[in-house]
Amino acid sequence: MIIGIDLGTTNSTVSVWQDGRAVLIPNALGDLLTPSAVSIDDAGALLVGFAARERQSTHPDRTATAFKRYMGTRHVTKLGGVAFTAEDLSAIVLGRLKADAEAYLGTTVSEAVITVPAYFNDRQRKATRRAGELAGLQVRRLLNEPTAAALAFGIQDCADREPFLVFDLGGGTFDVSIVEMFDGVVEVRASAGDNRLGGEDFNDAIMALARTRLDLAAMEALAAPALVHEIMRAAAERTRRALSDAAQAPFQVTIAGVQFETIVSAAEFEAQAAGLIERLRDPVLRSLRESDTRVDLLSEIVLVGGATRMPVVRKAVTRMFSRFPNASVHPDHAVGLGAAVQAALLAKDAALDEIRLSDVCPFSLGVDTTERDARGALHGGLFSPVIERNTPIPASRISYFRTLADNQREVQFGIYQGEAREVRNNIKLGEITVPVPPRPAGMVGVECRFSYDSSGLLEVDVHVPETGMTRNLVILDEVDAMTERDVAQRRELLAALKYHPREEAANAALLARAARCYESFIGAERERIGHGTLEFQAALERQDPRGIRIAHGQLSGLLDTLEGERFL
Ligand code: ADP
Ligand code: MG
Repeated sequence: MIIGIDLGTTNSTVSVWQDGRAVLIPNALGDLLTPSAVSIDDAGALLVGFAARERQSTHPDRTATAFKRYMGTRHVTKLGGVAFTAEDLSAIVLGRLKADAEAYLGTTVSEAVITVPAYFNDRQRKATRRAGELAGLQVRRLLNEPTAAALAFGIQDCADREPFLVFDLGGGTFDVSIVEMFDGVVEVRASAGDNRLGGEDFNDAIMALARTRLDLAAMEALAAPALVHEIMRAAAERTRRALSDAAQAPFQVTIAGVQFETIVSAAEFEAQAAGLIERLRDPVLRSLRESDTRVDLLSEIVLVGGATRMPVVRKAVTRMFSRFPNASVHPDHAVGLGAAVQAALLAKDAALDEIRLSDVCPFSLGVDTTERDARGALHGGLFSPVIERNTPIPASRISYFRTLADNQREVQFGIYQGEAREVRNNIKLGEITVPVPPRPAGMVGVECRFSYDSSGLLEVDVHVPETGMTRNLVILDEVDAMTERDVAQRRELLAALKYHPREEAANAALLARAARCYESFIGAERERIGHGTLEFQAALERQDPRGIRIAHGQLSGLLDTLEGERFL
């Protein structure tokens, strides 16, 4: 059994192909979305998902969210004194999703398809695959998120389709793909995106607005700046969501019992977010250009990702394409459902017999070279693409090079990803050095082969035909060079952490939410929350199932009344 996982910046899902269709699997709370959040409680136990996210404003130094932004870097997040990389935190979320799938399916699960932003680079992809391994999952395929959404959309009726555009704006990343369906082949013709653009940036815009109007110094006199920042961020998120349904919304924070409030109108938000909206255009134009698609020939604009719910984004999309977007796929579910479709394709499910998927490499990959100008002067550090962006994958290409100096003893290649002419403006992935026999300049040839697989993972080898010598890509980062043993060790380390029991997820989630609400309300309302929490905790301590059920219902009912239904 291969499960599908959408490991999002904000929310994740786990899915499976069952009885001829893709289904999302509910977590221990019965929710289909699991917040990508990890927190450590005072007893040192890990909380994952909703409960963890609720602790973000009450325990910012023990809680991590949006860590996908650090995937593939050495950035470390300390939670209650323990250091975690984005990879570790992702592994913890993946482990929980795996457990949810196992509980639902009643069997162990060891294989997965995990989605990644199309714009994820080689390091970020390798880090994601390792996170899967750390969670005890063999990652059968990394699937580009917009491609997954296209699969979920295209598979609905399996009919031929003119090119359509998938517009995926999530919490931290933006991806665009142009896809066509013909004779059962789902073909991605081009992908483009922005790795650092999503709902979080729109929160920053609201916070920037609020900061100009509220007394930040007064807030920071009441609480530590990090805590103030977290509380402001959570408030910005609420304001932004409220603005999806109203022309204006309050921005409201309570710090140590003191309330700060301002009203933000949709127009003000739109003006503040104009720069972000502008950044949506470039990837769209690039994907159209590179797939040779005229905008008026697009059959549909498919919106995916929670942040496409923002009216400012919808307006911008409608303006960009002069038409209304298609809303037939669920923006939060499409990527996850597509992952389950890909899992079924790998498992060769009979229902999908006729379907094939063809994807592209969304960026160029190449090496650095030195070129000689007309006067014979040398210019180093120039990018020479080996695989150009939007090449169908898997792909394998060879470029040929010659030595530059007399009696040169070795040839060194820097491996880069990007589009800039000067390699220093691209992302360096690694290096290869290969020895060559001493000869006059230009007399030794070197072949450089790039192989890019269906998961978007790169392998590079260089070959000197004269000596038969071959060398493989040497990865820069020692973090990247983790061996089987390192992975096993890291896994043991993660396994040694205490987890909050899955059966108690609902109780932990309610306690975390009540703690957050207690801090954000004052007066009689706060008192009622305190009282409800006490009753609930007392029932938990008595381990009285009926009492727990009743107190749980009362407390969550109270919180729902006070702040509206909880949102995911
Ligand atoms: P990811 O795939 O990165 O996890 P999602 O697709 O789950 O992201 O989208 C998360 C983003 O969607 C968040 O930034 C969240 O604020 C935003 N979002 C969700 N619902 C709404 C809404 N009703 N209005 C505005 N933004 C929303
Ligand atoms: Mg997503």
